[in-house]
Amino acid sequence: MRVIVTGGAGFIGSALVRFLVLERGYDVLTIDALTYAGCEASLRAVAGQPNHRFLRADIRDGSAMAQAIATFRPDRIMHLAAESHVDRSITGAADFIQTNVVGTFVLLEAARAYWQDLDAAAKAAFRFLHVSTDEVYGSLGETGLFAETTPYDPSSPYSASKAASDHLAKAWQRTYGLPVVVSNCSNNYGPYHFPEKLIPLTILNALEGRPLPVYGQGENVRDWLYVEDHARALDRIVAQGRVGETYNVGGRNERRNIEVVRRICAVLDRLVPGAEPRENLITFVADRPGHDARYAIDATRLETELGWRARETFDSGIEKTVQWYCDNAWWWRPLRDRYDGARLGLEPAPA
Ligand code: NAD
Repeated sequence: MRVIVTGGAGFIGSALVRFLVLERGYDVLTIDALTYAGCEASLRAVAGQPNHRFLRADIRDGSAMAQAIATFRPDRIMHLAAESHVDRSITGAADFIQTNVVGTFVLLEAARAYWQDLDAAAKAAFRFLHVSTDEVYGSLGETGLFAETTPYDPSSPYSASKAASDHLAKAWQRTYGLPVVVSNCSNNYGPYHFPEKLIPLTILNALEGRPLPVYGQGENVRDWLYVEDHARALDRIVAQGRVGETYNVGGRNERRNIEVVRRICAVLDRLVPGAEPRENLITFVADRPGHDARYAIDATRLETELGWRARETFDSGIEKTVQWYCDNAWWWRPLRDRYDGARLGLEPAPA
């Protein structure tokens, strides 16, 4: 099996590449532009593996994509490359439109040109998996779940750009017959998560005794999924999912943000006892504009049709994650040092 993974140096992409290369034994070509969010160190476990190659390239570069696809001759393309941080999309949406919308269009076109020239059997077996988010569905009230049939209603520039790319992927299937499958997943967490996101930010600030910024009163609810469960789901969906369909992916692990932060504090207090409870570091900050109240995924289709189940509960996954950050400063320290401190809720870095 020959698989191209775009965005494979990112958080979810690198978990997927590790899974495909080390557990499945597939031949994998990782394509990644190594933006601020891409990190070759996240691929250390597969570096030097004979069945893994890395290409630094931008998905917006049509000739680079065409050449990479024609040379590698994949059976599957799993498309994860994206600008992914909601806060960044609010302060600067341009890169989100360029990468998530235009980049997906360029990649779909390169995939279509390659796929059209395959023989009939290879053409039927080929798959393009477009990896997306549950944020395209907008916000839920206190009850209800996002189903695959929930109408799109994105709130942020990030989710609007992902919604646009989902529509492009589906249209390339309906119009040109390209065998596309789409997945929409809830919030992921786990090892190699970039330090600006809520869970790693909380772990690292708590470890360093810095304030733990929480938007509003921390009442927003997210449905958390351990990243390795997502990687297994993506492998299942691309292999067995029906062409033209959407599969929702979620862990049935709804938590209010404040509960997530408190849980991390409790785990850290146990693993690395400090002078006082880390909960004392919690600092409520002005809410994010357009902040969706609640996301929750109904993953019944994936569970019943494809037989996937999350292996980690929130408690087991968060325990593993906190432990991983405690043990792997080699990975996160350089990223954090290089960082715009304001984004991390820290003092600005000295000039
Ligand atoms: P990430 O920001 O950690 O990684 C994105 C990767 O894409 C980075 O390695 C970056 O270098 C690369 N990239 C960005 N622009 C590129 C370009 N123009 N060309 C080539 N590479 C480029 O993101 P993530 O959290 O791993 O998310 C991966 C995918 O999964 C995204 O499509 C995201 O929308 C989706 N998703 C994420 C979550 C989540 O909770 N993180 C949940 C559901 C879906």
